[in-house]
Amino acid sequence: MKTVLIVTRTFGKYTSEPIDLLKNNGFDLLWSDSLNPDLLRRADAIILGTGKLTGEMIENSSLKIIARHGVGVDNVDLKKATDLGIPVTITPNANTVSVAELVIGLIFVLSRRLVDVHNELFEKRKFSSSVGIEVLGKTLGVIGFGAIGRETAKRGLCLGMRVLAYDPYVSREVIHQYSVEQVDLETLLKTSDFVSLHLPLNQTTRKMIGKREIQMMKKTAFLINTSRGGIVDENALVEALKENQIAGAAFDAFEVEPLPEDSVLYNCPKLILTPHIGAHTYEAIYRMNMMASQAVVDFFNKKLPQHIVNVEIVDRLLKQGFSH
Ligand code: NAD
Repeated sequence: MKTVLIVTRTFGKYTSEPIDLLKNNGFDLLWSDSLNPDLLRRADAIILGTGKLTGEMIENSSLKIIARHGVGVDNVDLKKATDLGIPVTITPNANTVSVAELVIGLIFVLSRRLVDVHNELFEKRKFSSSVGIEVLGKTLGVIGFGAIGRETAKRGLCLGMRVLAYDPYVSREVIHQYSVEQVDLETLLKTSDFVSLHLPLNQTTRKMIGKREIQMMKKTAFLINTSRGGIVDENALVEALKENQIAGAAFDAFEVEPLPEDSVLYNCPKLILTPHIGAHTYEAIYRMNMMASQAVVDFFNKKLPQHIVNVEIVDRLLKQGFSH
């Protein structure tokens, strides 16, 4: 019997379907809140949330497949997995709409100061006459025009916003198909009223939005990061908000998670924080659960799992008798 280690908080929590899928295919399930080396040695597969799976952990494990419960793979040592012939799968599009909807929510939270006025009313009984802005006619700048960037752009257009995109890996034609204007990064930062980040975290994007980039933004603009912590220099952000260089920011992802108690972000004005809940809807969790389980089931049935990130592995698997 093969064993699947589950290290993600939301697996099988709201419906037993993904658990049934694994059990009905003869898998034994192990559950853990953390990446325990002993359990990694007992597991043939892992369904992994955002915990960091290091090269050393992979090397000392008995894992044959790593199924990420989500799309980012910055928490997995991909090179080590690839060297060892272990496929790493993701669940693309499972949470795309959920994240895009959160971005739209955050746009309104920022534009109408919803958290501030709520807190003033509840905590100080202050019936504030806060004045906000309409989003109609404002410019939304999307950095990273992949799955979530596109869904966010579509929703921005529905709200009557002008939408700009910066993504050097997506062609002008594709961006135009979405009725979005392709611009360079500087133009996007200088022109947008709302800048929304939808990039992967890698060596090129780490600290891509730092002091210089924030200074290019309008004083009235807002920065939204629902992608990955580490893309924005958090110290530069705090400084910019304290000095009123931009009007506000909303962050769902952080350099260190969970956000440490002494994080500089807690003492920052005009900053809305959410605890990495972009994908936390019943719909997205269901899709991620089922896709990750199916990848594990397929792999042990010698069927090539969908959405393998380390594509170098695919040829090797086909040579080992895996079928499409
Ligand atoms: P995606 O791969 O579909 O899109 C990413 C886009 O970023 C691609 O189009 C790529 O070309 C572009 N890109 C890469 N490097 C770039 C650069 N230097 N400059 C500009 N563009 C660049 O990914 P996605 O599904 O849209 O996810 C986007 C981000 O959101 C990822 O970081 C992902 O981890 C994160 N995410 C967060 C949550 C959450 O809970 N907050 C949930 C899901 C995904």
